[in-house]
Amino acid sequence: KIKNANENYFGSYSSFGIHREMISDKVRMDAYMGAILNNPSLLNGATILDVGCGTGILSLFAAQAGASRVISVEASHKMASVATQVAKDNGLLWNGSFTGGNNQCTGVINVVQGMIEELDESLNIPPNSVDVLLSEWMGYCLLYESMVSSVLYARDRWLKPGGAILPDTATIFVAGFGRGGTSIPFWENVYGFNMSCIGKEVAQDAAQLPVVDVVDSHDIVTNAVVLQSFDLVNMKPQEMDFTASVELEPKSGHPGDNHTDLQPKITWCYGVVLWFETGFTSRFCKEVPTVLSTSPYSPETHWYQTIFTFREPIAMASGKPECNGMAEIGTETCPAMKIQSRISIVRAEQHRCIDISLETVGI
Ligand code: SAH
Repeated sequence: KIKNANENYFGSYSSFGIHREMISDKVRMDAYMGAILNNPSLLNGATILDVGCGTGILSLFAAQAGASRVISVEASHKMASVATQVAKDNGLLWNGSFTGGNNQCTGVINVVQGMIEELDESLNIPPNSVDVLLSEWMGYCLLYESMVSSVLYARDRWLKPGGAILPDTATIFVAGFGRGGTSIPFWENVYGFNMSCIGKEVAQDAAQLPVVDVVDSHDIVTNAVVLQSFDLVNMKPQEMDFTASVELEPKSGHPGDNHTDLQPKITWCYGVVLWFETGFTSRFCKEVPTVLSTSPYSPETHWYQTIFTFREPIAMASGKPECNGMAEIGTETCPAMKIQSRISIVRAEQHRCIDISLETVGI
């Protein structure tokens, strides 16, 4: 089963379309390029291991930054041979022997085909000898594809004690979204016709499965909070599976706060949206640290955001509600002051998928 999942997974990376999509993601590229090219004290003269090199783009930057050796590992046969060709065509392919020293910008890239986990001996580098571990491993909602475990595997085998990991931190955020974050408004008026029955059905389906799509920052109705943070230097693979609780409150500065009437203005929360950031922090990027953000408040990336719709929207208000004893919290007559949600993300039995559960435990 795992073998099949891997074949499908690496097969999907054998088509050029996905690599074009990643290379066209300017936010992603700027973050990696900046981290690699603007921190010479880290990269210059260093031995780099690029886990999952794809086209080899990050390895090419590393060579450009003055790395003395770049080992670029790629499981897909197709992409490994493409990365080799590309490095060669750019005069950056290692020719089999290291002269070291002065001509550092040519012939440093060594592409190795295989899954990093299966390369023990054939990856011809001594244990604990890599200065910088470089990888773009992030999936939707950060952990989809579960590739981070391959990076941790490489870290534990080849990274020098105190060696750098790019990026070195990852954080998942969560916030509540309003009606505009659902499909409901779209279907209400289609060239003047009411198609809201479709909107309702789409919203119901969305309550079953997460949806990867853009959420406009204007549709965020609560504060944004950290769901989970990871430190790539220390984290253990089992930390990829976690349960965490968050408290969401109606966003301050939301139009609902400017009310002057006695009744607190109600904010409807239709679900929560997850996104992530990875940090190239000053721990290793001493000259120019940088952050790669996939937040709705930042420019769009090919990761978009991941949207979880509640079965029923929850009414919220920042003032203390005057509810009579019978009213259900989270309804219009008794809006909630906060939503407490327990979210867990665990690797699914089906390799490379993740199971996400979301439970609203109190409001
Ligand atoms: N570094 C490239 C590609 C990133 S996509 C870029 O930034 O554009 C991730 C790549 O890692 C894919 O090409 C995938 O085939 C490869 N990959 C994923 N897991 C791997 C593993 N365990 N061993 C080797 N390669 C892997």
